[in-house]
Parts: sequence; structure tokens; C-alpha cells
Amino acid sequence: MQPFVYNSAPSRVIFGRGASRSLAAELDRLGLKRALVLSTPQQEEQSLSIASNLEWRLAGSFHEAAMHTPSEVTAVGVRRASEVNADCLVAIGGGSTIGLGKAIAWRTDLPQVVVPTTYAGSEMTPILGQTEDGLKTTIRNPKIQPQTVIYDVDLTLTLPAQISVTSGLNAAAHAAEALYARDRNPVISLLAEEAIRVLTQALPRIVDDERNVEARSEALYGAWLCGICLGSAGMALHHKLCHTLGGSFNLPHAATHCVVLPYALDYNRTEIPEAMAAMSRAMGGVDAARGFRALAKNLGAPTSLQALGFEEADIARAAELATENAYWNPRPIELAPIRTLLTHAWRGDDL
Ligand code: NAD
Repeated sequence: MQPFVYNSAPSRVIFGRGASRSLAAELDRLGLKRALVLSTPQQEEQSLSIASNLEWRLAGSFHEAAMHTPSEVTAVGVRRASEVNADCLVAIGGGSTIGLGKAIAWRTDLPQVVVPTTYAGSEMTPILGQTEDGLKTTIRNPKIQPQTVIYDVDLTLTLPAQISVTSGLNAAAHAAEALYARDRNPVISLLAEEAIRVLTQALPRIVDDERNVEARSEALYGAWLCGICLGSAGMALHHKLCHTLGGSFNLPHAATHCVVLPYALDYNRTEIPEAMAAMSRAMGGVDAARGFRALAKNLGAPTSLQALGFEEADIARAAELATENAYWNPRPIELAPIRTLLTHAWRGDDL
């Protein structure tokens, strides 16, 4: 066994059906009295309905969260927090809303209570990705990690099946890369394998029936574990490629993860036999790269970058961007093989 260092990030998690009804009690426990509630425009109604539980503790709301956490939106959110004299942030939604909460917290030191409604996993990480003048940058700092996370399975029942699949495979990618991270450790590897097992079993059942509460519970449980993996272990080629494709070519976040994962695993496979074996165990004995691709295909999710609107002519530039700054990956990252990887992913080739 390789030597390891294990840090566990302090955060409190409340999980279950109807768990968001404990929002007011959670604020009381933390001594917080004036919440600014955050969401996307699409989730304004849902977030306000959940926030009604806060009664007099609801100081105000802001519903402009957007993909990639644009700094202009954050600036308005910071002003809003000050206008209503907020003493905490309550983010209700997916990674975009949670990103807005983290960005405001980073600038104001306000504590965060998060109610996630997708499987992206941002709530469990000390990482903030934000965009300024078209450039996406990432900050990692313990101050960014939300204090309390409330996972309410009922809130995920409205997540459309197709978004559930891409979001679930986005989550699985955190677990996959944690299994071969340079700083991996046995605890996170256990969580990662379990996460891939529950998510890959739950997603087909969600596609069969979006309101299957048992499958939704398992998917959310898996997503939580994946979030811990993302927050605890360094990511490699797969996340770097998705960051490049999302940040510089504006491809949709979760769907890009869903398409790229099989090809990133295939690229690394010769260097990561133990991780491939763990994923295969979790997925009922199939090869993980082929298994993830088959799962996406069978569940009607995108399987090529072409289907996401990525232009073939941009492959060379994307390969250059993804190889520009040296970063760790189990197999060396070289321009020509990365261009080949992206070409396969663009076409959605069989593996
Ligand atoms: P998202 O937050 O953009 O949500 C996608 C859409 O689904 C939005 O319109 C949202 O309002 C809607 N939605 C969310 N939950 C719903 C529900 N239960 N029912 C109906 N509609 C719902 O998408 P996402 O994939 O959750 O997050 C992507 C963003 O999160 C990206 O910007 C990514 O960079 C970031 N992210 C950050 C981290 C991190 O650790 N910093 C980790 C993962 C993702």
C-alpha cells in the first residue's frame, strides 16, 4: 500500500426525505438570524417555497445564479447581502447556485448552508470556480467549504431524467479520478468505489421512473460521496479536459463530463490497473471506460462532443489549451495523443 495523508474537511450533513424542513432549526443551531437565499431564475419559486420555512429568519433573496459563476453576478449578490444585512447565505440549487454562494462567502466571510438539488457535488468541496472577463479561474481554500449541507431527496424528484443522468455521471467522474489521484488514500478509495456502485445502479432506475424515491435517495447518497472525493483528492486529465472545454468553448458542464469520462479513462488505463479494477467491481465486472460509455448511451445521454455543438475545427486548439500548463496525470499528457483522444470523443467512437 502506498503511504498516504488523510485530511477530513469539517462539514455537517443532514440527509433524508423532507430534510430541508430542518433549515430553520439548522440556522438556530448555528446562531444565524438573517439569511440571504440564493437560486437560479429557474428555481426561484422552488427556493422561496423551501425558504418559507425560515419565517422571520429570511432577510432577502437573490435569484440570478448562472453557470460558471460570473463575477458581475457575484458583485450584485455581495451588494444584496449587505443591503439586507445578511448574516448567512442559503444556496438552494445545483453547482451554479452553490458556486454563487461560495463566491459571495469568499468575499464576505458569511457562513453558508447549502441545499443541493443536483448531483454535481460542489457543496462538499473547498473549491470555487469563477469567471472574470471570460477567464475561468479556480481557488481552493478551506474558507470556501459550506458549513452545513442539507440533502433533501424530495427536491431531486423534479430534476429531469436527462439532467439526472449527465449530473450523475459528472459526479461519478469525481470518484473515478479520486481512485487514481496522486494523493489518493484508502478511505477516499472506499467512498469512490461505493459511489460508482450506487450511482451506476440508480441512474437507470431514475430514467425508468423519475419519481422513484429509493433510486433518487441512492443517487443523492452517491453524489454526496462523489463530492467528498472531489473535495479530498486531486483531479487529473479528465477534469482538466472538461474545464478547458467548458471554460474556453462554453460546452455544458455535466454533459461534457459525461462524454469525456470514457475516453479519459481509456487514455489512462495502462497506468491505473487498480483503479480500473475497483471501477469494474463497482460496475458488475464490465470494463469501466466501456461501461460508462454504454451507460450514457443506453440512458439517452450525449456520447460525443459533436452532439454538444463542439466544432471539429476546435479540436487542435482545445488539445493545445489542455496540454499548455503541466499538471499531474498518471500517464504523461502529450499533445498528439490528447488530440487523438479529443477526436475520438468528438466522433463518439467505440472504445
Ligand atoms: P446547474 O446548477 O447549472 O443546474 C442546471 C439547471 O438545472 C439550472 O437551470 C437549475 O436551476 C436546474 N435545476 C437544478 N436542480 C433542479 C431540480 N431539482 N429540479 C429542476 N431543475 C433543477 O448545474 P450543475 O451541473 O449542478 O452545476 C454546474 C456548475 O457547478 C458548473 O459551473 C461547475 O463548474 C460547478 N461545479 C463546481 C464544483 C466545485 O467543487 N466548485 C463541483 C461541481 C460543479
